[in-house]
Amino acid sequence: MKILKYCPNCGKESLQWDGERKWSCQNCGFTLYNNVAGAVAVVIRYNDEIYLTRRNRDPKKGKLDLAGGFVDPKESAEETCKRELFEELQLDVDISNLKYLTSLPNVYQYKEIDYNTIDLFYEYRVPEKFEVNLELSEISEAVWIPLKELNLEDIAFDSQKKFFEEYLKNI
Ligand SMILES: [Zn+2]
Repeated sequence: MKILKYCPNCGKESLQWDGERKWSCQNCGFTLYNNVAGAVAVVIRYNDEIYLTRRNRDPKKGKLDLAGGFVDPKESAEETCKRELFEELQLDVDISNLKYLTSLPNVYQYKEIDYNTIDLFYEYRVPEKFEVNLELSEISEAVWIPLKELNLEDIAFDSQKKFFEEYLKNI
């Protein structure tokens, strides 16, 4: 987190990262917090298959990812699920069918900043398989994978790998 050196308040090269959650200016006392960000990840499931997206950008380009993303300001986590699944897959989510499973911490690196996240995992069962219309989507690919064939090495993020280690025990 060395890239932020100059204080956005006084302009001096006196900003210091505390190694965990905030930058402080030794000159004017300004403080900038890098708080934990909320994010959702949704297991879209039909019988014993799940629908995963393939990331088309860094971090972890090319790896498999659960649909989801960061919680926006003033948004509930369930609203995030609904918004993200529509943006990524044009799926019209019925919020009452979202099942909260667990949460796990993760670190999301983006443009040299480490964002600590708390990933909230949901399961969303669909009555039939569907395919995403990629022309309307912000993703490059999505695949149905039988849970038995899921290789954790193909999963993009550590929190999701850890999640699936437990999730796969119960299939
Ligand atoms: Zn300052």
